[in-house]
Amino acid sequence: MLHKNLSINEAGHLTLAGMDTVELAKKYGTPLYLMDENRIRENCRIYIDAMRKYMGEGSRPIFASKACCFKRMYAIIAEMGMGTDIVSPGELYTANAAGFPMEKAFFHGNNKTDADIEYAINVGIGYFIVDNREELEAVNACALRHGVRQKILLRLTPGIDPHTQKKISTGKVDSKFGTAIETGQALELCKYALSLSGVDLEGFHCHIGSQIFDYYPFRDAAEIMLRFIRTLLDACGHEIRILNLGGGFGVRYVERDPVVDYESNIRGLAGEIQRICSELSIQQPDILMEPGRSIVADSGMTLYTVGSAKTITGYKSYVSIDGGMTDNIRYALYESDYTALLANRPADTADFCATIAGRCCESGDIIQEDVMLPRPMRGDTLAVLVTGAYNYSMASNYNRIPRPPVVMVRDGKDYIAVRKESYEDLCRNDM
Ligand SMILES: *Cc1c(COP(=O)(O)O)cnc(C)c1O
Repeated sequence: MLHKNLSINEAGHLTLAGMDTVELAKKYGTPLYLMDENRIRENCRIYIDAMRKYMGEGSRPIFASKACCFKRMYAIIAEMGMGTDIVSPGELYTANAAGFPMEKAFFHGNNKTDADIEYAINVGIGYFIVDNREELEAVNACALRHGVRQKILLRLTPGIDPHTQKKISTGKVDSKFGTAIETGQALELCKYALSLSGVDLEGFHCHIGSQIFDYYPFRDAAEIMLRFIRTLLDACGHEIRILNLGGGFGVRYVERDPVVDYESNIRGLAGEIQRICSELSIQQPDILMEPGRSIVADSGMTLYTVGSAKTITGYKSYVSIDGGMTDNIRYALYESDYTALLANRPADTADFCATIAGRCCESGDIIQEDVMLPRPMRGDTLAVLVTGAYNYSMASNYNRIPRPPVVMVRDGKDYIAVRKESYEDLCRNDM
């Protein structure tokens, strides 16, 4: 199977972490997000151990929580001893409500409002990742008002194109995020930051994109960032101690995707970073990475119930499910690949080519096109695999469809991490 937490039991049903998915669909109803808690923890462990071992004691992963954000998720990350990224006051609120240690939180985003900044400083956020000059001024002013010195990293654009999809590529010079090194604006921003007494410039951040399957783009980004660290040292005598290389290691969604060995990629990257630092005669900064997808994606799957299989004679076939773009918008947004199968009879011959369509009033409400399935029947349970990242966190209430619950499985038990939205929930704010 695609990942090692997937299998088929004696009943011939698909299992996740040994749990019968058809039984879980019956117990909780569909659509249903399932997540394998141990798998999340194992993914965290790989990054924590490899980064410490190969990149030094202070190097560590930070969970990019936009990939999957609810209170229980922050609690798991906190239990693993990891920090987290947040990109909005809503994520910040959720982390805080879960008791997440705020000094380990990094506040991202290309447009933080004055209210956002005030809120983050009030709760004692660890770091701001400052995007631009106006934001730097606002953070400085707010810190001075509160009588604190706020730690910051500056988000810089190294000018790298990792050749991933355009919408998830973020490190190029013309990106909406960060400040460009190439144009000289980054150096100006550093000088300005160093002149302010409300902020401490501890490090630099870059994020080049997502679904990156080997470490070479990270090495290229690291080289540019480390050279810039040298430039700043020469220009201002200021030594940068933290280099955050962002997120983006890829995940296997379909059989043709490569299997990524995170540990050996981190080892390879660490070697390159050491080499570059010694060439530049600089001390190696602590390295941070921000995995999101690769922490949670393969822990998850979504279960649906089939309503109909409709063949338009001479054209194509649709299988309709009781969810869709409201719980998984990624095909509509990016034409993302997914693997689908029938959870109640995964081993049956897959000889029916179908487009999986959701229940929204949109022709674009599609989960995947042209997938091979056993001919589906009304009542079958359809599983879409590897949905732990950017599914629940991107879910919406379009067509007033309630969000599905998130059920975690762990050590042979299942529990509700996020309850199913009710119709009352949908009307809660309506006057
Ligand atoms: C989205 C994002 C990440 C996480 O990317 P993944 O592909 O999920 O690992 C990390 N850092 C920043 C700044 C991001 O925008």
